[in-house]
Amino acid sequence: MTAITLVRGDITEQHVDAIVNAANSSLLGGGGVDGAIHRRGGPEILADCRRLRASHYGKGLPTGRAVATTAGRLHARFVIHTVGPVWQADEDRSALLASCYRESLRVAAESGAVSVAFPAISTGIFGWPMDDGARIAVRTVHEAAVAPVADVRFVLFDDAAYQAFERALAAAP
Ligand code: ADP
Repeated sequence: MTAITLVRGDITEQHVDAIVNAANSSLLGGGGVDGAIHRRGGPEILADCRRLRASHYGKGLPTGRAVATTAGRLHARFVIHTVGPVWQADEDRSALLASCYRESLRVAAESGAVSVAFPAISTGIFGWPMDDGARIAVRTVHEAAVAPVADVRFVLFDDAAYQAFERALAAAP
């Protein structure tokens, strides 16, 4: 049974086995949570990302997929980078957003992670509406979390995000 908890704060300060990064497909860093993870985690994470790009993802990590690297100086064993979809009002891309959570959990479980911290993927620069993003996140973690993952923490950067996740958790079956 996986416990889901909500934390209001900065994901780079979490002490967990795996921190999930809302990356972009280049894996070379960006703004938002991605920038914060690379700044706090130090250059080892980027070095690992560059190696992954060279060996597997020359064309970029596809949307909805996830890969693990070192966590550098973060208080975690590894960072799982996943590429969320950009919100598009005229196209339902929610399966891709669900895939980010599912694939990240799969990679976490394969790596033996017990505790995993997620940001609200796609809800920043990629423009996904927060309530919908929260619903997809909570539903997918309920459906897809498998042992040894036992503690999934959503780390929400502001009150609006925290409240959206509270509503999503309250509404979940
Ligand atoms: P995306 O490109 O997937 O939208 P962003 O990093 O722009 O990614 O935003 C994803 C979510 O992460 C947003 O809700 C944003 O407020 C939040 N966020 C930004 N920095 C942090 C942080 N240090 N810790 C936790 N969440 C963060």
